[in-house]
Amino acid sequence: MSLPTIKRVLLKLSGEVLMGNQQFGIDPEFVAELAKEVKAAKESGLEVCLVIGGGNIFRGMAGAAKGMDRAQADYMGMLATVMNALAMQNALEQLGVQTRVQSAIEMDKVCEPVIRRRAERHLEKGRVVIFAAGVGAPYFTTDSGAALRAAEMKCDALLKGTSVDGVYDSDPKHNPDAVRFETVTYDRVLADNLQVMDASAVALCRDNKIPIVVFSIREKGNLARVLAGEGVQTIVQSS
Ligand code: UDP
Repeated sequence: MSLPTIKRVLLKLSGEVLMGNQQFGIDPEFVAELAKEVKAAKESGLEVCLVIGGGNIFRGMAGAAKGMDRAQADYMGMLATVMNALAMQNALEQLGVQTRVQSAIEMDKVCEPVIRRRAERHLEKGRVVIFAAGVGAPYFTTDSGAALRAAEMKCDALLKGTSVDGVYDSDPKHNPDAVRFETVTYDRVLADNLQVMDASAVALCRDNKIPIVVFSIREKGNLARVLAGEGVQTIVQSS
């Protein structure tokens, strides 16, 4: 199954892929490798929006599990996504790719606020727009932020680059017989609670008919392969 023609894409990267082989934080060498992939996607003629998670630094749920107030911990998680966005901006600009970071939590010393029409203009000018701080509210994740930005920026697909190469019928880390889907419907993902993105993000993509492509960003050149319809991936769509 192949994707419809993609002109504008939202690429969501889990924070953990910025760690490289570290256990925590940001590995600048690995971020530079990711930036090369993004640059290649842009040079192939695509308009690229980016959303990066924060799980390599802090997740609200983890803080709450250790007794923190959940909302407070979530705000810390959102700030972590801003750090990752700035790291990616740095790596892209070192490769000569123009970028703008727009954060859902305003911090005008370091980046712009999210302004949809301004983001449109940046894309028209060939800049990569990195959306930070998710939806700007606690109790959400950057998956929801990615689905929201993909919808408002009218992206043709949401590509979720993570450490697994697609969506499985059970957890491949625990079940050696787990089978990867080539395609799966939004409704099945939601009904079977398959590990793709959180339910609100999947529902938002379903309601706005945005295909979700889950693939591993850890292998070099994989983003280009997936965009060419040649990579190992799972496509989540209506039917
Ligand atoms: N977060 C939030 N609201 C949002 C986006 C993120 O509260 O709209 C917080 C939440 O605590 C989350 C953390 O930021 O755990 C980091 O984001 P996420 O877990 O989505 O990162 P990823 O798993 O993609 O690395």
